[in-house]
Amino acid sequence: MTETRVRFAPSPTGFFHIGSARTALFNWLYARHTGGKFILRIEDTDKERNTEEALQVLIDGMKWLGINWDEGPLVEGPCGPYFQSQRSNIYREWLTKLETAGRTYEKDGAIWFRLEGERSVVYDDYLKKEVEKVAAAPVVIEDAIRGRVERAEDRDFVIFRASGDPVFHFVNVVDDITMGITHVIRGEDHLSNTSKHVELFRAFGADVPTFAHMPLILKEVGQGKMSKRDQGALVEDYQKQHYLSEAVRNYLCLLGWSPKDDREILPIDEIIDLFDLPGITQTNARFDGKKMAFINSHYVRAMPIESFTWLAKPILVEADLIPEDYDEDRLQSILALCQEKVRGLGELAQFARYFFKDDFATDEKALNKVTKKGDPAARLDEAAQALEQLSKFDAESIETAIAAAAEVSGNKPGAYMPLMRVALSGTNVGPSFYPMLEIMGQGCVVDRLRQFRATLS
Ligand code: GLU
Repeated sequence: MTETRVRFAPSPTGFFHIGSARTALFNWLYARHTGGKFILRIEDTDKERNTEEALQVLIDGMKWLGINWDEGPLVEGPCGPYFQSQRSNIYREWLTKLETAGRTYEKDGAIWFRLEGERSVVYDDYLKKEVEKVAAAPVVIEDAIRGRVERAEDRDFVIFRASGDPVFHFVNVVDDITMGITHVIRGEDHLSNTSKHVELFRAFGADVPTFAHMPLILKEVGQGKMSKRDQGALVEDYQKQHYLSEAVRNYLCLLGWSPKDDREILPIDEIIDLFDLPGITQTNARFDGKKMAFINSHYVRAMPIESFTWLAKPILVEADLIPEDYDEDRLQSILALCQEKVRGLGELAQFARYFFKDDFATDEKALNKVTKKGDPAARLDEAAQALEQLSKFDAESIETAIAAAAEVSGNKPGAYMPLMRVALSGTNVGPSFYPMLEIMGQGCVVDRLRQFRATLS
């Protein structure tokens, strides 16, 4: 059996859209599933738009997602160069093959591909002029996802522009042939090009690869395909928001594919194992930012505390919450508390601020809620007093001290906790209460309780 060779063939635009990332990912999954090769080919024939930076965005995004390529830029391989802009000689050579076979002609300075079939001149209502039509035999595509698709080309088409530049259809097919591509897995928007491509493969006398056209990714709300302007459409958005790349990758795997059970969180090795082309859905996949965030929070909570700390530290340093040389053990204890509650690293700096700074914001709603009932001033005085006296300031002693204070005042510990939490952290949600106080430390806790008490008349 021949080795599976698939490719991701982006045109660098300066953005790495999640639709492109999904295309790259599905090709990569298929290569890994079959033990074949995954090739990165840069379709950079549009000279204006293709810059060094645009390429870097793409390479960074793929590396971040862990989609490694076996042949392509930086890696090289037997079928290079892997940039279309560096393959002009190859395209000229392959044009000669078509010329020799009598399948080209020149018109208006451009080089056209001649279809085989009966020719006739008909009046085109749309163009309002007479055009030559070709009754070519329909092309049958046994698409690995969409099933049988039939489509006939009825006009010859340009393969080299008057400028001398080859056209997308031509270079795409020549590269797929010369790179030995066995499966073309790409977006459904290319299905309309496929009959042209098949005609070219045949004219070259080459084997036609298996096509697999993936469903579109629809925008989260409203109609239509997700575009680069839509919220959450770019891989770099997730990088900037400190999403975990494994989580983003896991989510992208579900855009048009599923493991046939209800699972949404799967290790990548298992996805590679289960992944196959017939498993890709025909129905369009709607982007769901909430699901992405949910999957991310799962990965955040499941990661070892050492890794979480390693990722979190630079974020906290960047936000000016801690210095570079902050005590590692203390940092890890704080982060262990945050990890169980925070939904993503993107909200960590805001979430954890009160552990490091006194100038945290206070949530008005939470404040009203805890101060409008009972006698908050009295409860705060009692709590501060009870905690001040502790000689050992650990979670257990704190809990016991608050319980004792509650007993004396004839209240439940519940009359203290939410109130104290708002006083200490400005919010009524957060990590486990007593461990939080322990790590904050006696001085900080007592001071904050007293300061907060002073704000109540
Ligand atoms: N450069 C094309 C694109 O970005 C590649 C199409 C293909 O995969 O054949 O859409």
